[in-house]
Amino acid sequence: MKLILFGPPGAGKGTQAEFLSQTFSIPSISTGAIIRNAIREKTPMGIAAEKYIDEGQLVPDEVVIEIVKERISEDDCKNGYILDGFPRTLNQAVALKNMGEKIDHVIDLEVSDEDLIKRLSGRRECKSCGAPYHIKYNPPKVDGVCDKCGGTLISREDDDPETVRKRLVVYHKQTEPLKEFYKKEGLLRIVKGQEELADTKKEVLKALEVGK
Ligand code: AMP
Repeated sequence: MKLILFGPPGAGKGTQAEFLSQTFSIPSISTGAIIRNAIREKTPMGIAAEKYIDEGQLVPDEVVIEIVKERISEDDCKNGYILDGFPRTLNQAVALKNMGEKIDHVIDLEVSDEDLIKRLSGRRECKSCGAPYHIKYNPPKVDGVCDKCGGTLISREDDDPETVRKRLVVYHKQTEPLKEFYKKEGLLRIVKGQEELADTKKEVLKALEVGK
């Protein structure tokens, strides 16, 4: 099964991707997490990408397309994968198609801008393994500590209110038009983000059933 998790920043793509990854035993691939890792490790790609992330802008298409191309050619992707945060532009969607990848479903997580701004202020991420949390919707068992690896939970720098506003503008302008692309391909499954995490998970599974 090859899935795309689509939606604005803060809609819960990472959390749902992780849930689906466990449910279907396929890897979840977050371009954002790969880039943040490269920034931490100060690789040439990380150094080049940092300014875009800091400004809430998209990293150039050719960079992310190469990241995804390499990652999905790895062995653990042969039974499928979940793309979290890719594609984000029409160029990226076309590149994915041209790679010969047959996507089964595109899950579009919909949350209003007002709710996104509220949600992003409570978002946390493990500094070590990148696991996503939210202080209200998806809290860790112990405050500030990752359930999985014991790492420290931090707020992402690009979740500050000013950068969030920029990221939302970028989403509406450059990424949202992709919905039409996947609608035409018959792959778009719309899921309204729910207040409770468990309810969103149920809606996501339901959307996958409908798409079968
Ligand atoms: P995310 O973790 O998905 O919210 O991504 C964080 C940031 O990484 C974005 O605001 C972009 O700067 C960059 N990024 C992640 N995925 C992509 C993509 N597919 N295309 C361009 N930039 C991306």
